[in-house]
Amino acid sequence: MRVLLVNMPWSPIDLPSLALGILRRSVDERTSGHADVLHANLEFTDWITRRTEFTADDYQFYALSSYFMGCGDWVFSSALYDDPAWRVPEFRASMRGKLRDERIRMSEELHRVVPEFVQETAERIVAAGPDVVGFTSTFQQNTAALAAAKYVKRLAPHIVTVMGGANCDGEQGEAGHRNFPFLDYVVRGEGEAAFPQLLTTLDEGGDLSAVPGLCHRSPGGTSTANPMSTSPLPPATILPPDYSGYFERLASSVARNWVEPKLVVEGARGCWWGEKHHCTFCGLNGSFMQFRSKSPDTFYEEIMDLARRHRVLDMYVVDNILDMGYLSTVLPRIIDSGYDLRLHIEIKANMRRPQLRTLADAGMIYVQPGIESLNSRVLDLMDKGVSGCQNVRMLRDGAETGLSVSWNYLHGFPGETAADYEPVIAQLPALEHLDPPVDLSARIAIERFSPYFNRPELGFTGLRPEEHYRFTYDLPESELYDLAYVFEAPERGIGETTVTSLNDALGAWRKHHVDSRLTHTDLGDRIVCVSRRRAFDWGAMELTAPLEIAAFRLLDQPHAPAALTRKLAARLPEHPVDEAAVHTLLQHWVTLGLVFTDGGQYVHLAPAAVNEDLLRLDFMRHRHAVPAAQQTPDAPRAVVHA
Ligand code: SF4
Repeated sequence: MRVLLVNMPWSPIDLPSLALGILRRSVDERTSGHADVLHANLEFTDWITRRTEFTADDYQFYALSSYFMGCGDWVFSSALYDDPAWRVPEFRASMRGKLRDERIRMSEELHRVVPEFVQETAERIVAAGPDVVGFTSTFQQNTAALAAAKYVKRLAPHIVTVMGGANCDGEQGEAGHRNFPFLDYVVRGEGEAAFPQLLTTLDEGGDLSAVPGLCHRSPGGTSTANPMSTSPLPPATILPPDYSGYFERLASSVARNWVEPKLVVEGARGCWWGEKHHCTFCGLNGSFMQFRSKSPDTFYEEIMDLARRHRVLDMYVVDNILDMGYLSTVLPRIIDSGYDLRLHIEIKANMRRPQLRTLADAGMIYVQPGIESLNSRVLDLMDKGVSGCQNVRMLRDGAETGLSVSWNYLHGFPGETAADYEPVIAQLPALEHLDPPVDLSARIAIERFSPYFNRPELGFTGLRPEEHYRFTYDLPESELYDLAYVFEAPERGIGETTVTSLNDALGAWRKHHVDSRLTHTDLGDRIVCVSRRRAFDWGAMELTAPLEIAAFRLLDQPHAPAALTRKLAARLPEHPVDEAAVHTLLQHWVTLGLVFTDGGQYVHLAPAAVNEDLLRLDFMRHRHAVPAAQQTPDAPRAVVHA
């Protein structure tokens, strides 16, 4: 059986598809068939740049930045509905005021021409003569994948069409299969077991209803969905990806001048935090929250094997959260390997400095901790399991250890008030030397699979599929409800006045970060702090009093005044210490921007002086090369990380 796996736009162009890499291997190893991959995202890049001005930034916009506006999916809806003018007025009306006129014009132009690309792609697929064509659909790939499946079916009804991927999880897959009859099968959930099982069943005959999660049709044409597996795949059965062909195809594409390609590796699925405390806004883990990780030996060998085979040292680790066991198993081996890897990884924000140092030493220099807010009460509302001071400590220690910290600020949580934000906003000028969020604060979106979606009692009722689904698909709202991943709901939490204040402060942070500096050097008998931040008029300061030196050292970790007073008294038995004096000192340091306070705790803000300015320049250089899959969309209303 010949299988062609297709990666349609708007899949990232700087990364091979992990899903198709795994599926390809699963076909080759677990069936009698053979699979090839068509990198139609790269084909599209070459196709469109031959016709019109189109840049890497444009691709990035449709692949990712516009995710919550659905622009990438709308572009290919013209192909899906065989109408180059499909719902143009609706798109224009919706985007006016949100997008520049130039961007709206480009979207409409793409919308007009992409049916031709889909037709050519379908002809190419048919010419390759596969028995089965499989489309992966994640993020804004859905309409392009659907349209290509439709055209293939029209050209060659004998070719079996299959779709899978994150957009097919749970009800979404059922809705896709139910509403698009040119899809013969939809694989829901983890595909590396179900897809080969489907192929073997098709090849040898057998019972389709035995394939977990599969959507298939009865002889009468009615869509039927098999129950999804109740337990996720054990980690030992998760195959390493086969990326043959991607780097070669990229090398011959115009995209080779646009991006630094990266390998994609996977150590774990699910989330060990979310198993116990599902962050209220997070739909990231889909149907399977249960955390599973590959054995350290397996993961290490996969990393090394891929690096050797493709001679690429930049890697994006897709895990939603790091297996903390890897800190003492995989990472030390990477450090000793002699390979100068650069890894992008998502971590929990309460990791301590020695752990961060291990990450940095292993080359995991681009970290994405789930910071989301600097206020403990808001963090509690999202069940994040970290405090505002811990998040600030993460930013400080990230700077000290040379990690580039990528994070988002979110708002709009039921129960939050302006009073939660105002003290943080007032302190943001003191943080300008630390990595700012990747964008301004965004109101959260309601994601399928999240507690906010599943539990209306948490504050979000009256959910509707986001507007863009309505002008992209020709489906009634009840069907869109099952197809959609992102939902709109009445706004909760802070009002626009507070949002504006917050974003003004975050905007200033982003603007002034490169020129801002605060460090400390502990010389034993004194601590020297050096500051260059626009909101503070002091440049250097020495802490010489024993009480100050001891307090500053203790504030390496968040402390409440009472606990700090107790520890100071124990450390300085010859110096009388009372809580009022400690409180006065802390307030003074807040005024100087030397400490941050939230939720009754205090933590100092000064990374130890290291060569951090050079690291920051490196960060700025690489920030533009962060893989698309890692970046949160420009207009984000949700996050994609721990
Ligand atoms: S936001 Fe991160 S830590 Fe929270 S449940 Fe989702 S993946 Fe887990």
